Amino acid sequence: MSIDDLPAALTSRFAEDPGLARYTAARLGGPADALIVARDTDDLEAIVTAAWGAGVPVRVLGGGANVLISDAGVDGLIVINNRTAEIVPLDATTLRVSAGTALTHLTRTCATLGLRGFEWAVAVPGTVGGAVVNNAGAHGTSMADCVVSAWVVEPSGAREWTTADLDYAYRHSALKSRADRRFLVTGATLRLTPDNPADINARMAEYNAHRKRTQPSGASLGSVFKNPPGDYAGRLIEACGLKGHTIGGAQVSPVHANFFINAGGKATAADYYTLIRHVQAVVEAQFGVRLEPEIELLGRFADA
Ligand SMILES: Cc1cc2nc3c(=O)[nH]c(=O)nc-3n(C[C@H](O)[C@H](O)[C@H](O)COP(=O)(O)OP(=O)(O)OC[C@H]3O[C@@H](n4cnc5c(N)ncnc54)[C@H](O)[C@@H]3O)c2cc1C
Repeated sequence: MSIDDLPAALTSRFAEDPGLARYTAARLGGPADALIVARDTDDLEAIVTAAWGAGVPVRVLGGGANVLISDAGVDGLIVINNRTAEIVPLDATTLRVSAGTALTHLTRTCATLGLRGFEWAVAVPGTVGGAVVNNAGAHGTSMADCVVSAWVVEPSGAREWTTADLDYAYRHSALKSRADRRFLVTGATLRLTPDNPADINARMAEYNAHRKRTQPSGASLGSVFKNPPGDYAGRLIEACGLKGHTIGGAQVSPVHANFFINAGGKATAADYYTLIRHVQAVVEAQFGVRLEPEIELLGRFADA
Protein backbone atom coordinates (compact mmCIF):
# COMPACT_ATOMS: atom_id res chain seq x y z
CA MET A 1 0.00 0.00 0.00
CA SER A 2 1.20 3.52 -0.65
CA ILE A 3 0.83 6.58 1.49
CA ASP A 4 -1.79 7.88 -0.95
CA ASP A 5 -4.10 5.13 0.34
CA LEU A 6 -4.40 6.99 3.64
CA PRO A 7 -7.64 8.92 4.26
CA ALA A 8 -7.73 12.44 2.78
CA ALA A 9 -7.98 13.84 6.32
CA LEU A 10 -4.37 12.67 6.76
CA THR A 11 -2.91 13.18 3.29
CA SER A 12 -4.09 16.81 3.53
CA ARG A 13 -1.87 17.17 6.61
CA PHE A 14 1.35 15.92 5.02
CA ALA A 15 4.14 18.41 5.67
CA GLU A 16 5.21 20.29 2.57
CA ASP A 17 8.82 19.46 3.38
CA PRO A 18 9.15 15.89 4.70
CA GLY A 19 12.85 16.39 5.52
CA LEU A 20 13.71 14.69 8.81
CA ALA A 21 17.07 16.30 9.62
CA ARG A 22 15.45 19.12 11.61
CA TYR A 23 13.58 16.55 13.70
CA THR A 24 16.72 14.71 14.81
CA ALA A 25 19.28 15.70 17.41
CA ALA A 26 22.15 14.97 14.98
CA ARG A 27 20.55 17.31 12.43
CA LEU A 28 21.11 14.96 9.50
CA GLY A 29 19.35 12.40 7.33
CA GLY A 30 16.99 12.43 4.35
CA PRO A 31 13.20 12.76 4.03
CA ALA A 32 10.29 10.47 4.82
CA ASP A 33 7.79 9.63 2.07
CA ALA A 34 5.37 11.67 4.19
CA LEU A 35 5.52 13.49 7.51
CA ILE A 36 2.79 14.57 9.92
CA VAL A 37 3.26 16.36 13.25
CA ALA A 38 0.77 14.99 15.82
CA ARG A 39 -1.32 17.57 17.65
CA ASP A 40 -2.02 15.53 20.77
CA THR A 41 -2.08 11.94 21.99
CA ASP A 42 -5.52 11.15 20.54
CA ASP A 43 -4.41 12.59 17.19
CA LEU A 44 -1.20 10.52 17.35
CA GLU A 45 -3.15 7.33 17.97
CA ALA A 46 -5.62 8.10 15.17
CA ILE A 47 -2.81 8.72 12.66
CA VAL A 48 -0.86 5.58 13.56
CA THR A 49 -3.91 3.29 13.59
CA ALA A 50 -5.07 4.70 10.24
CA ALA A 51 -1.63 3.91 8.78
CA TRP A 52 -1.78 0.36 10.16
CA GLY A 53 -5.28 0.00 8.71
CA ALA A 54 -4.05 1.11 5.28
CA GLY A 55 -0.98 -1.15 5.44
CA VAL A 56 1.35 1.86 5.25
CA PRO A 57 4.71 1.61 7.08
CA VAL A 58 4.66 4.12 9.94
CA ARG A 59 7.17 5.16 12.57
CA VAL A 60 6.83 7.63 15.43
CA LEU A 61 9.69 9.94 16.37
CA GLY A 62 9.77 11.89 19.62
CA GLY A 63 12.87 14.04 19.82
CA GLY A 64 14.81 12.05 17.21
CA ALA A 65 17.59 11.94 19.81
CA ASN A 66 18.44 8.27 19.37
CA VAL A 67 18.02 7.65 15.64
CA LEU A 68 20.43 7.91 12.73
CA ILE A 69 18.34 8.47 9.61
CA SER A 70 19.91 7.48 6.30
CA ASP A 71 20.62 10.10 3.64
CA ALA A 72 18.12 8.33 1.37
CA GLY A 73 15.45 8.83 4.02
CA VAL A 74 12.78 6.49 5.37
CA ASP A 75 9.99 4.63 3.56
CA GLY A 76 6.42 5.36 4.60
CA LEU A 77 4.97 7.80 7.09
CA ILE A 78 6.83 9.43 9.96
CA VAL A 79 4.76 10.96 12.76
CA ILE A 80 6.47 13.51 14.98
CA ASN A 81 5.28 13.38 18.57
CA ASN A 82 7.05 16.09 20.52
CA ARG A 83 4.27 18.56 21.24
CA THR A 84 1.91 16.66 23.44
CA ALA A 85 3.06 17.21 27.02
CA GLU A 86 0.49 15.97 29.52
CA ILE A 87 1.51 15.36 33.15
CA VAL A 88 -1.31 14.32 35.50
CA PRO A 89 -0.68 13.51 39.19
CA LEU A 90 -2.73 10.41 40.11
CA ASP A 91 -1.81 10.50 43.80
CA ALA A 92 1.02 11.82 46.01
CA THR A 93 3.73 9.77 44.29
CA THR A 94 2.30 8.65 40.95
CA LEU A 95 2.14 10.57 37.67
CA ARG A 96 0.49 9.71 34.37
CA VAL A 97 2.55 11.25 31.55
CA SER A 98 1.94 11.34 27.82
CA ALA A 99 4.49 9.88 25.39
CA GLY A 100 5.12 13.30 23.82
CA THR A 101 6.28 14.89 27.08
CA ALA A 102 9.87 16.14 26.85
CA LEU A 103 12.09 14.45 29.44
CA THR A 104 13.59 17.79 30.47
CA HIS A 105 10.14 19.32 31.03
CA LEU A 106 9.07 16.28 33.05
CA THR A 107 12.21 16.53 35.19
CA ARG A 108 11.51 20.16 36.05
CA THR A 109 7.86 19.41 36.79
CA CYS A 110 8.84 16.60 39.15
CA ALA A 111 11.12 19.02 41.01
CA THR A 112 8.28 21.54 41.32
CA LEU A 113 5.96 18.82 42.60
CA GLY A 114 8.59 17.73 45.16
CA LEU A 115 9.06 14.28 43.59
CA ARG A 116 12.50 12.65 43.44
CA GLY A 117 13.63 9.94 41.03
CA PHE A 118 13.62 11.68 37.64
CA GLU A 119 16.58 14.05 38.13
CA TRP A 120 18.76 11.80 35.95
CA ALA A 121 16.88 13.06 32.85
CA VAL A 122 17.58 16.75 33.45
CA ALA A 123 19.77 17.02 30.34
CA VAL A 124 18.56 14.03 28.32
CA PRO A 125 16.88 15.17 25.10
CA GLY A 126 13.83 13.39 23.72
CA THR A 127 10.44 12.30 24.91
CA VAL A 128 8.86 9.86 27.32
CA GLY A 129 7.85 7.64 24.37
CA GLY A 130 11.43 7.21 23.17
CA ALA A 131 12.65 6.75 26.75
CA VAL A 132 10.06 4.03 27.45
CA VAL A 133 11.19 2.16 24.32
CA ASN A 134 14.93 2.57 25.01
CA ASN A 135 14.90 2.32 28.80
CA ALA A 136 16.82 5.59 28.77
CA GLY A 137 18.83 6.38 31.85
CA ALA A 138 21.79 8.18 33.36
CA HIS A 139 23.65 8.54 36.65
CA GLY A 140 22.87 4.95 37.66
CA THR A 141 19.09 5.31 37.24
CA SER A 142 16.83 4.53 34.30
CA MET A 143 13.20 4.41 33.21
CA ALA A 144 13.05 0.89 34.67
CA ASP A 145 13.37 2.46 38.15
CA CYS A 146 10.44 4.87 37.66
CA VAL A 147 7.98 3.21 35.28
CA VAL A 148 5.06 1.32 36.81
CA SER A 149 3.44 0.65 33.45
CA ALA A 150 3.28 1.92 29.89
CA TRP A 151 0.23 2.34 27.69
CA VAL A 152 0.85 0.58 24.40
CA VAL A 153 -1.45 0.50 21.38
CA GLU A 154 -1.13 -2.32 18.86
CA PRO A 155 -3.31 -3.20 15.85
CA SER A 156 -5.20 -5.58 18.19
CA GLY A 157 -5.99 -2.76 20.67
CA ALA A 158 -4.57 -0.84 23.65
CA ARG A 159 -3.14 -2.48 26.75
CA GLU A 160 -1.26 -1.46 29.87
CA TRP A 161 2.19 -3.08 29.87
CA THR A 162 3.71 -3.85 33.27
CA THR A 163 7.46 -3.65 33.86
CA ALA A 164 7.51 -7.44 33.57
CA ASP A 165 5.96 -7.11 30.08
CA LEU A 166 8.49 -4.41 29.18
CA ASP A 167 11.35 -6.72 30.23
CA TYR A 168 13.71 -3.84 30.91
CA ALA A 169 17.47 -4.28 30.87
CA TYR A 170 20.33 -1.88 30.11
CA ARG A 171 19.03 0.29 27.20
CA HIS A 172 16.71 -2.55 26.26
CA SER A 173 12.99 -3.27 26.34
CA ALA A 174 10.69 -5.87 24.84
CA LEU A 175 9.43 -3.06 22.56
CA LYS A 176 12.86 -2.06 21.28
CA SER A 177 13.65 -5.59 20.11
CA ARG A 178 10.33 -6.06 18.31
CA ALA A 179 10.92 -6.63 14.60
CA ASP A 180 7.41 -5.67 13.44
CA ARG A 181 7.42 -2.19 15.08
CA ARG A 182 3.63 -2.21 15.03
CA PHE A 183 3.23 -0.61 18.43
CA LEU A 184 2.65 2.86 19.74
CA VAL A 185 3.46 4.09 23.24
CA THR A 186 0.85 6.66 24.26
CA GLY A 187 1.98 7.23 27.83
CA ALA A 188 3.39 5.86 31.03
CA THR A 189 2.64 5.77 34.74
CA LEU A 190 5.64 6.70 36.89
CA ARG A 191 6.14 6.19 40.62
CA LEU A 192 8.48 8.65 42.35
CA THR A 193 9.40 9.52 45.93
CA PRO A 194 8.44 12.68 47.87
CA ASP A 195 11.43 14.93 48.60
CA ASN A 196 12.36 18.52 49.27
CA PRO A 197 12.36 20.55 45.99
CA ALA A 198 15.59 22.32 47.03
CA ASP A 199 17.41 18.97 47.34
CA ILE A 200 15.97 17.79 44.02
CA ASN A 201 17.07 21.01 42.31
CA ALA A 202 20.55 20.67 43.82
CA ARG A 203 20.92 17.17 42.33
CA MET A 204 19.68 18.43 38.95
CA ALA A 205 22.25 21.25 39.03
CA GLU A 206 24.99 18.73 39.90
CA TYR A 207 24.01 16.43 37.00
CA ASN A 208 23.84 19.38 34.61
CA ALA A 209 27.29 20.58 35.65
CA HIS A 210 28.68 17.04 35.24
CA ARG A 211 27.32 16.90 31.66
CA LYS A 212 28.78 20.28 30.79
CA ARG A 213 32.18 19.13 32.09
CA THR A 214 32.23 15.73 30.40
CA GLN A 215 30.09 15.87 27.24
CA PRO A 216 30.32 17.98 24.07
CA SER A 217 27.77 20.55 23.03
CA GLY A 218 26.69 20.59 19.37
CA ALA A 219 24.61 18.23 17.28
CA SER A 220 25.05 14.55 18.23
CA LEU A 221 23.08 11.47 19.18
CA GLY A 222 24.53 11.17 22.69
CA SER A 223 26.29 7.86 23.33
CA VAL A 224 26.68 6.01 20.04
CA PHE A 225 27.54 2.61 21.56
CA LYS A 226 26.31 0.72 24.60
CA ASN A 227 28.90 0.18 27.29
CA PRO A 228 30.17 -3.40 27.08
CA PRO A 229 29.89 -5.41 30.32
CA GLY A 230 32.36 -4.11 32.93
CA ASP A 231 33.79 -1.37 30.70
CA TYR A 232 33.00 1.88 28.94
CA ALA A 233 32.70 2.30 25.18
CA GLY A 234 34.22 5.79 25.51
CA ARG A 235 37.29 4.44 27.35
CA LEU A 236 37.93 1.81 24.67
CA ILE A 237 37.52 4.30 21.79
CA GLU A 238 39.79 6.82 23.49
CA ALA A 239 42.40 4.12 24.22
CA CYS A 240 42.52 3.41 20.46
CA GLY A 241 43.56 7.03 19.90
CA LEU A 242 40.34 7.81 18.06
CA LYS A 243 39.33 11.00 19.89
CA GLY A 244 38.98 13.69 17.22
CA HIS A 245 39.00 11.14 14.37
CA THR A 246 36.93 12.61 11.55
CA ILE A 247 35.22 11.16 8.50
CA GLY A 248 33.64 13.79 6.27
CA GLY A 249 31.73 15.99 8.70
CA ALA A 250 31.37 13.39 11.46
CA GLN A 251 33.87 13.48 14.30
CA VAL A 252 34.60 11.40 17.40
CA SER A 253 34.22 14.11 20.00
CA PRO A 254 37.54 15.26 21.48
CA VAL A 255 35.59 15.74 24.76
CA HIS A 256 33.84 12.33 25.06
CA ALA A 257 34.86 9.54 22.69
CA ASN A 258 31.44 7.82 22.70
CA PHE A 259 29.80 10.99 21.29
CA PHE A 260 30.11 11.55 17.52
CA ILE A 261 29.37 15.11 16.56
CA ASN A 262 28.03 16.62 13.37
CA ALA A 263 30.94 19.04 13.17
CA GLY A 264 29.89 22.35 11.65
CA GLY A 265 26.56 20.82 10.59
CA LYS A 266 28.31 19.33 7.53
CA ALA A 267 28.00 15.59 8.27
CA THR A 268 25.96 13.22 6.17
CA ALA A 269 24.40 10.07 7.60
CA ALA A 270 26.90 8.13 5.44
CA ASP A 271 29.80 9.96 7.19
CA TYR A 272 28.31 9.13 10.57
CA TYR A 273 27.72 5.50 9.63
CA THR A 274 31.22 5.05 8.15
CA LEU A 275 32.67 6.48 11.36
CA ILE A 276 30.60 4.02 13.43
CA ARG A 277 31.90 1.08 11.37
CA HIS A 278 35.49 2.35 11.51
CA VAL A 279 35.41 2.77 15.30
CA GLN A 280 33.82 -0.67 15.72
CA ALA A 281 36.54 -2.27 13.57
CA VAL A 282 39.45 -0.51 15.31
CA VAL A 283 38.16 -1.29 18.82
CA GLU A 284 37.51 -4.92 17.88
CA ALA A 285 40.98 -5.30 16.38
CA GLN A 286 42.68 -3.79 19.44
CA PHE A 287 40.54 -5.13 22.30
CA GLY A 288 38.52 -8.01 20.82
CA VAL A 289 35.31 -6.24 21.88
CA ARG A 290 32.54 -5.70 19.31
CA LEU A 291 30.80 -2.48 20.34
CA GLU A 292 27.04 -2.61 19.92
CA PRO A 293 25.27 0.57 18.79
CA GLU A 294 22.96 2.20 21.33
CA ILE A 295 21.50 4.38 18.58
CA GLU A 296 19.05 3.00 16.07
CA LEU A 297 19.57 3.14 12.30
CA LEU A 298 16.50 4.08 10.25
CA GLY A 299 16.44 3.69 6.46
CA ARG A 300 19.02 2.05 4.22
CA PHE A 301 22.77 2.07 4.94
CA ALA A 302 25.55 0.66 2.78
CA ASP A 303 26.09 -2.74 4.42
CA ALA A 304 23.56 -2.72 7.28
C1 LIG B 1 23.17 15.04 23.65
C2 LIG B 1 22.46 13.75 23.95
C3 LIG B 1 22.58 13.17 25.20
C4 LIG B 1 21.92 11.95 25.48
N1 LIG B 1 22.07 11.41 26.73
C5 LIG B 1 21.44 10.25 27.00
C6 LIG B 1 21.53 9.66 28.31
O1 LIG B 1 22.17 10.17 29.21
N2 LIG B 1 20.88 8.50 28.53
C7 LIG B 1 20.13 7.89 27.56
O2 LIG B 1 19.53 6.83 27.83
N3 LIG B 1 20.00 8.42 26.33
C8 LIG B 1 20.63 9.59 26.04
N4 LIG B 1 20.51 10.12 24.79
C9 LIG B 1 19.68 9.44 23.78
C10 LIG B 1 18.20 9.90 23.80
O3 LIG B 1 18.09 11.15 24.43
C11 LIG B 1 17.30 8.88 24.48
O4 LIG B 1 17.43 7.61 23.89
C12 LIG B 1 15.82 9.31 24.41
O5 LIG B 1 15.06 8.43 25.19
C13 LIG B 1 15.31 9.30 22.98
O6 LIG B 1 13.98 9.78 22.99
P1 LIG B 1 13.33 10.34 21.67
O7 LIG B 1 11.95 10.77 21.97
O8 LIG B 1 14.23 11.35 21.06
O9 LIG B 1 13.33 9.02 20.78
P2 LIG B 1 13.50 8.95 19.19
O10 LIG B 1 14.95 9.05 18.86
O11 LIG B 1 12.57 9.88 18.53
O12 LIG B 1 13.00 7.44 18.94
C14 LIG B 1 13.75 6.36 19.46
C15 LIG B 1 12.95 5.06 19.18
O13 LIG B 1 11.74 5.10 19.93
C16 LIG B 1 10.62 5.00 19.03
N5 LIG B 1 9.56 5.85 19.59
C17 LIG B 1 9.64 7.14 20.00
N6 LIG B 1 8.48 7.54 20.50
C18 LIG B 1 7.62 6.49 20.37
C19 LIG B 1 6.25 6.27 20.70
N7 LIG B 1 5.49 7.22 21.27
N8 LIG B 1 5.70 5.06 20.42
C20 LIG B 1 6.44 4.07 19.83
N9 LIG B 1 7.74 4.22 19.51
C21 LIG B 1 8.31 5.41 19.79
C22 LIG B 1 11.13 5.49 17.69
O14 LIG B 1 10.35 4.99 16.62
C23 LIG B 1 12.54 4.93 17.71
O15 LIG B 1 12.50 3.56 17.41
C24 LIG B 1 21.15 11.33 24.48
C25 LIG B 1 21.01 11.93 23.22
C26 LIG B 1 21.65 13.13 22.96
C27 LIG B 1 21.48 13.76 21.60
